Amino acid sequence: MAEQTLVLIKPDGLKKSLTGNILTRLSETKLEIAAAKAVCVTRELAGEHYRHMKDKPFFNELLDYLMGNLHNRKKVLALVYHGDNAIKLVRDICGDTNPESADPTSIRGSYGRITTKGLFENIIHASSSPEEAEREIKLWFKPEELVYRIYPVETEEKVTQTLVWA
Ligand code: ADP
Repeated sequence: MAEQTLVLIKPDGLKKSLTGNILTRLSETKLEIAAAKAVCVTRELAGEHYRHMKDKPFFNELLDYLMGNLHNRKKVLALVYHGDNAIKLVRDICGDTNPESADPTSIRGSYGRITTKGLFENIIHASSSPEEAEREIKLWFKPEELVYRIYPVETEEKVTQTLVWA
């Protein structure tokens, strides 16, 4: 079944110059890229993305991680992949959440680490279910940023002002 999944190359992936390598690994899936952009992550966006982790003792550290505060890289690369079985195909290449127990040939197993404070720095995020993928894609992207009409859209009247040369 055709699915879509949100992928984030986290700040440690960017700091370690792994973007090209990760995109090559993901291209093995033959999935289509439906959207891609660099994002400067606010605490609000990070908190909404990881809202299911709110009660974890490492929640604040996790937000700092996604915001790039631990790596002095204040951005992530956000992508949407589209195609048959997208969620499982991408999760398999990413590997387990814990980089120590992840398959050593997976992205997280190859490049992730556990910090001295115990946070899993695991390079990449990938949606875990169709429901989460839809929630996350709608959180990170506007409808016009996707090249496919994956989810239904509607139009909204908006009065906007733009600066032009006087
Ligand atoms: P996943 O990212 O594999 O979908 P979760 O949504 O459960 O996993 O966790 C979100 C992120 O929180 C993980 O990617 C990892 O960075 C961090 N994390 C999860 N569980 C732990 C843990 N037990 N200890 C430290 N960090 C964790």
